[in-house]
Amino acid sequence: MTPSDAAHRMMGYIDGSPSPYHAARSAAHLLDAAGFTAVAETGPFPVGSGRWYVIRGGSLIAWAVGDHHEPSAGFHIVGAHTDSPNLRIKPRPDSEKAGIRQLGVEIYGGVLLNSWLNRDLGLSGRVSIRRDGTVEERLFLVDRPILVLPQLAIHLDRQVLELGLKLNPQTHMAPIWALDHEEADFATFLAAELDIDRADVLAWDAMAHDLTPSAITGLRGELIAAPRIDNLASSHAGTVALAAAAGGVSDTIPVLTLFDHEEVGSTSDTGAAGPILSQVLERSVLSRGGDREAYLRALAGSAAISADGAHATHPNYADRHEPEHEIALNGGPALKVNANLRYATTSVAAARVIEAADRAEVPLQQFVNRTDLPCGSTIGPITAAQLGISTADVGAPQLSMHSARELCGAEDPGHLEALLHAFLSNS
Ligand code: ZN
Repeated sequence: MTPSDAAHRMMGYIDGSPSPYHAARSAAHLLDAAGFTAVAETGPFPVGSGRWYVIRGGSLIAWAVGDHHEPSAGFHIVGAHTDSPNLRIKPRPDSEKAGIRQLGVEIYGGVLLNSWLNRDLGLSGRVSIRRDGTVEERLFLVDRPILVLPQLAIHLDRQVLELGLKLNPQTHMAPIWALDHEEADFATFLAAELDIDRADVLAWDAMAHDLTPSAITGLRGELIAAPRIDNLASSHAGTVALAAAAGGVSDTIPVLTLFDHEEVGSTSDTGAAGPILSQVLERSVLSRGGDREAYLRALAGSAAISADGAHATHPNYADRHEPEHEIALNGGPALKVNANLRYATTSVAAARVIEAADRAEVPLQQFVNRTDLPCGSTIGPITAAQLGISTADVGAPQLSMHSARELCGAEDPGHLEALLHAFLSNS
């Protein structure tokens, strides 16, 4: 496989996954093609060997058990997240000013607000609807320009060049979507999209996305510009790595966990701070004839990698980076360390990743934040604390993290897939 194969596959995955719900389902489609089967959490878990996944909202957990795996076999887990910072539609979003209809939005996660201005935006998410006396969940996707956030003209904002752009999230971020139409009402719009009555639209998790497709860029095609690289690049690499590791001979069971809600702290029914992963892992042990002792033995023999974007060194702001730990685009995944455990990596976990990178012949970089700047975090420390298992934080280098459009190297998706595969398959 050439690096550009991995890059193009990743770009297709990202473009097809504007919301966490779509990202989980896009991963499921890739797993379906690799012989995995969906398991309903409300039913019994599968007995014996096989390839399985559970979807809960915008999260997905997948695992592959071989005939040789005892119930107490350990897990090698790759984790990533399906959510990205964006604009989310309020419950009563409709308003009108100066003959222009707008949608009220909340800011989800740490959004670089300026990056959403002057773009063609679509809409996606999920809607709960009433149908035949029950409530049903439907995904929706509007992949055509429908929202736009026009920036204030410079003639009306004379100070912008000296003072910089200041955006108030309540008053400056409501997208425009119609002129003078009383019927431009969000619930009515959703009802028409879903071909149902307006009265049957009960609630939504709806969000805007930039419609510009992912692109290979740079003089020799060495870069990728795309939305949601943080963290669909890792979600995609982990999914491909699991599909390739399934059916292997490793003593440990390969597991993929894609969590929603990382960008807002992970505390939810589907987030990394909740019980979803431990529940699925324990049930997978119990259904194979193990007991709680076997589950705890399995955890004692387990390890995890949290895969999430790493900050490449920005040439225009090189002073924001630790000078002895420069991170290069296309330089391979970065192993992320923070002494205060904003990243989970310990020396023990680091050694495991260094060994896997050696086996995969993948270049590995080492990231540490400047000591005088606060460090971001990931699902790594949360997963380590939830399960009590050694976890390393790694990530493909990128620029413009949390912008509506981000940038990474075109070779790094392939590097990350290879590293995660080596870890999941122990080979
Ligand atoms: Zn992230």
